[in-house]
Amino acid sequence: MKDMKVNGTLIWYYFICKREVWLMSHQLIPDQENSNIDIGRFLHEESYKRDKKEISLGNIIIDVMKKENGELIVGEVKKSSRFKESARMQLLYYLKELKDKGIVAKGVLMFPKEKEREEIELTKEDEKELDKVVRDILRIIYLDKPPKAIKNKYCKKCAYSELCFS
Ligand code: SF4
Repeated sequence: MKDMKVNGTLIWYYFICKREVWLMSHQLIPDQENSNIDIGRFLHEESYKRDKKEISLGNIIIDVMKKENGELIVGEVKKSSRFKESARMQLLYYLKELKDKGIVAKGVLMFPKEKEREEIELTKEDEKELDKVVRDILRIIYLDKPPKAIKNKYCKKCAYSELCFS
């Protein structure tokens, strides 16, 4: 397996299902024709923002960037707040990546359909947690086999459900 890097997508999945982190990182893409599918979750969210402004910076893609009262604001637009914790950690990961490049920014999570927004600031604790998460993601993706399937509330709509539970 070639060298794998942690990215925002894997951070997102980490907070949904560890097994899915392994399956995604090993590019086991489920059958997207399957009607039971929610592969969605992330890809869907991504396609939702296709018309939004995006900026690539190394291995990260940022939705919106602007200056507000002299502060740099990075926005992450999501279709729904259903996976809010994943979205929050993904945005914190971007803020940390920027900080490591010498750019200090604040984040805003935006759920336009729900008319909701949440300001996000990277704290020392977040940085420590992200370091732990990144190390754990690397541990997972270098496992020979995916972690065991453990039923969770996302399984029902997960594209991998047949692979995990048939
Ligand atoms: S079906 Fe459940 S256990 Fe399997 S990858 Fe999806 S969320 Fe994870």
